[in-house]
Amino acid sequence: MARKLTAKERFQIPRQHMPEQPPEVRACNFEEVNLGFDEDLAVREADRCLQCPKPKCEEGCPVNIKIRDFIALVADRKFDEAAKKIKEDNSLPAICGRVCPQEEQCEAQCIVGKRSDPVAIGHLERFVADYERKRGLMKAEPPTEKSGKRVAIVGSGPAGLSCATDLAKMGHDVVVFEALHELGGVLVYGIPEFRLPKEIVRAEIEQLEKLGVEFVTDAVIGMTDTVEELLTVGGFDAVFLGVGAGLPRFMGIPGENLVGVYSANEFLTRVNLMKAYRPDAETPVLDVAGKNVAVFGGGNTAMDAVRTAKRLGAKRASIIYRRSEAEMPARNEEIKHAKEEGVEFLVLTNPVEFLGDENGWLRAARLQKMELGEPDDSGRRRPVPIEGSEYVMEIDMAVIAIGNGANPMIRKTSPAIEHTKWGTIVADRKTGKTTMKGVFAGGDIVTGGATVILAAGAGRRAALAIDEYLRTGRWEDLGQEEPPAEA
Ligand code: FAD
Repeated sequence: MARKLTAKERFQIPRQHMPEQPPEVRACNFEEVNLGFDEDLAVREADRCLQCPKPKCEEGCPVNIKIRDFIALVADRKFDEAAKKIKEDNSLPAICGRVCPQEEQCEAQCIVGKRSDPVAIGHLERFVADYERKRGLMKAEPPTEKSGKRVAIVGSGPAGLSCATDLAKMGHDVVVFEALHELGGVLVYGIPEFRLPKEIVRAEIEQLEKLGVEFVTDAVIGMTDTVEELLTVGGFDAVFLGVGAGLPRFMGIPGENLVGVYSANEFLTRVNLMKAYRPDAETPVLDVAGKNVAVFGGGNTAMDAVRTAKRLGAKRASIIYRRSEAEMPARNEEIKHAKEEGVEFLVLTNPVEFLGDENGWLRAARLQKMELGEPDDSGRRRPVPIEGSEYVMEIDMAVIAIGNGANPMIRKTSPAIEHTKWGTIVADRKTGKTTMKGVFAGGDIVTGGATVILAAGAGRRAALAIDEYLRTGRWEDLGQEEPPAEA
């Protein structure tokens, strides 16, 4: 039981501040910005929770973590139990505690937040997960009984990892195929170290190895083997596709092919995975030290790219975004941190052309001012160009971070799997079942670019359905109520 405090006493406790590296220090290193709560800060923050009889925060969580109960355990200093409580619903708390947009989800629903700042649910989730990991309390308990069934997971992002975890615990043999040489998907190649240390992702993968999951890297399904081949010659009984949406989008404006224009995916992958900032790197990025870098976009990817450029020594690192700050999809914390680190924000501004020198190198961008018109299909106000407002800004490097589409590899090689016109896979929301028997899908490849927690949730739902499929052989009515047993 959480300690007895009156509601008034709880309201009087201010939201506890997350310790962090000072902006001028962290803007020059790749170490994690947020330093995490200590035990006393965590307990004090947990004491702010009202322990609502009907916790609205849990309705705001896409995977309905038992937030009230885990916070009560934190308040009672039962940190390990609190971590286990979260893991009943989310197998990646150290990651989600760091990167989930809590201000739009659980914390947006928190009753304390109606009168004061909401309870820092994300910071508490992160604290208990770190507590468990740092003290070696993470436990992989391999199942005592094996099913004899084999499942191939394609893609090692949060969707694939969550699906693999649950299937392995259910006793199935799981092999994860990953196209890249490192495991973790966007968690390792996209989100930088200063926001999500890679040791955390590695620790999750180690747990999976202890559960008996096998990993095969440098395996591009669709090239090395097709999905059909996995099910036939590969001897797998089911396949889960968690291949993400990693195909960068470009703006289609003149000059995008100039040297010095990168997609955010390429820029971040080179820096995160290939250590492009080292002089001896095999695939370096342009040296931006003392130069002007402009990042186009307003999401988490754009913030990650611009803050990376700052850390690589850019003199001027700017976000250029065609709507206003209120419409930016990035997490509030990332926007705040970017500003503190000296990133410039040029909002209501759109590029119309990149300008190059005689050698084909980027030297400037022609920009146009925008104003907000009526809402568009996304519900956000549409940016409308202002006539005669164009001007030229000198830049040495441009990074395009306006979103990603689905990679066409599976679509091209597996015609039996229905895709939408956007290239995403058509899959049942509840089960992840695709139009090809024995094949399931979830995460960004189904929803388009979304969030870690949504991908992880989809992986877990698919694991339940795959287990049912493997046990019962049901396909057409998978996930529906089983008919009552005959008397
Ligand atoms: P991914 O994480 O994309 O993983 C898919 C994996 O499949 C990749 O490793 C890929 O190499 C592999 N793959 C692809 N094709 C094949 C193939 N044919 N064969 C084998 N393997 C294949 N979300 C948040 O919630 N918070 C954030 O702060 C946040 N920041 C982000 C920052 C960046 C830079 C980016 C790019 C995204 C961010 N997101 C964030 C979004 C989030 O990371 C994704 O929604 C999530 O990772 C999707 O998970 P997934 O498992 O579906 O796919």
